[in-house]
Amino acid sequence: MQRPGTRDSAGRTHVVIVGAGFGGVTLAKKLGGAPVDVTLVDRHNYHLFTPLLYQVATALLDPSEIAHPVRSIVRRERNVHVRMAEITAIHLAERRIDTNTGSIAYDRLVVAAGSVSNFFVNRTVEERAYPLKELEEALALRNHVLETFERASITEDDEEERRLQTIVVVGAGPTGVECSGAFAELSNLVLRRDFRGSNLQHVDIELLEAAPSLLGTFASSLQRAAQRTLVRKGVNVKLGTGVREMTPDGTVVLQDGSKLDAATVIWTAGVKGSPVGAMLGVELARGGRVPVDEWLRVPGHPEVFVIGDLAAVQGSGGPHPMLAPVAIQQGEHVARQLAAEARGEPGPGPFRYFDKGTMATIGRNAGIAQIGRLRFSGFIGWLMWLFVHLVQIVSFRSRLIVLVNWAWNYVFYDRPVRLITTAGRHPHESE
Ligand SMILES: Cc1cc2nc3c(=O)[nH]c(=O)nc-3n(C[C@H](O)[C@H](O)[C@H](O)COP(=O)(O)OP(=O)(O)OC[C@H]3O[C@@H](n4cnc5c(N)ncnc54)[C@H](O)[C@@H]3O)c2cc1C
Repeated sequence: MQRPGTRDSAGRTHVVIVGAGFGGVTLAKKLGGAPVDVTLVDRHNYHLFTPLLYQVATALLDPSEIAHPVRSIVRRERNVHVRMAEITAIHLAERRIDTNTGSIAYDRLVVAAGSVSNFFVNRTVEERAYPLKELEEALALRNHVLETFERASITEDDEEERRLQTIVVVGAGPTGVECSGAFAELSNLVLRRDFRGSNLQHVDIELLEAAPSLLGTFASSLQRAAQRTLVRKGVNVKLGTGVREMTPDGTVVLQDGSKLDAATVIWTAGVKGSPVGAMLGVELARGGRVPVDEWLRVPGHPEVFVIGDLAAVQGSGGPHPMLAPVAIQQGEHVARQLAAEARGEPGPGPFRYFDKGTMATIGRNAGIAQIGRLRFSGFIGWLMWLFVHLVQIVSFRSRLIVLVNWAWNYVFYDRPVRLITTAGRHPHESE
């Protein structure tokens, strides 16, 4: 059995981290220099900056600007080893995980495997709609939307043209709002100029939300501001409108039985804990998350921690929202615990989440931000969103490129990467 991380360090605690997302990467970096050996396992060789994923889907950013090689992120942490592998089983009693590239023994295990799209057991939607969670999914969506515009430009069938130019976004949380705003701008500001001779008057962006308001976690004044902005940008916002199913030809059937004929349906209506949680063999909490105590440990297994989207903290104000700052703060907390334990020092108290605020953008010059009791919308909200996301991007090179791309888009109303490539396809397109 392989046990990486122990080569030059006999006797030191071996910490295995599953997942190089926000929680896992923060933890690995914070453990750099601590008297432990760390193996960071992820099925991808990159860390994904999900808040800007929709900008890949809407042809504003290139994948390399939001995905960074994990090895380069932890390059300076000499006690951190990276392993690209997919975890397939967890054996708590034997303190070992299985992966598609072999088994790894651990002394301490931290599961930071994040979440997956939740289709609420609706198989037709799962098979047909475009989720937006992984890099490949964003690319598949970009390719598909650009292709539908190409097809719309040559069809002589009005109905087909309308179908090709209809984009339905299901779920008006931050991702749905950002995505629909960005698609409206892509079609109104960019594609209309690209497809000069053709008729793009049928472009229809529909944002569907089952709840009576969009952006459920934001203050009602910001919800209203966001809705106004979306409508101004040409998005058809339909609240209290749930999706019942999708037919094999892609038609969306709403809860009231009415139908929407759309070539593109984007599913941003929910996420649930990663299937890795079930490998722990404990009873899962709501949303497929793993219940953990206030120190983020699995009950009965103080050597196993769960952080980020997958963790449902019992007590300490939890369960916390599935947000990057929660995962980051939990990664920092577990790092303090493990480093203190390895040094024989007392560890920190229970985990407490410090909410620094939430924000969303609704296009090129409108955003909303909620920081404590303060509320910002419009251009100021957008500038705040811009600044916060720019400083969070992992590499300096990407930060510069993203800034230049954003500025270019802002001044020239352009989308630099509106390429249709063979990489990135929705499974049903290759049927
Ligand atoms: C489109 C989108 C936009 C978002 N925007 C925002 C935002 O603006 N602000 C915000 O705060 N939050 C946002 N979020 C939520 C945020 O991305 C998550 O809360 C955060 O990523 C959770 O961090 P994590 O470490 O728990 O998991 P993740 O960052 O998702 O990382 C999980 C890692 O585990 C790996 N993994 C999973 N399963 C396996 C396996 N079997 N084997 C090996 N590796 C595995 C994955 O490859 C991944 O690298 C957004 C999410 C999405 C999808």
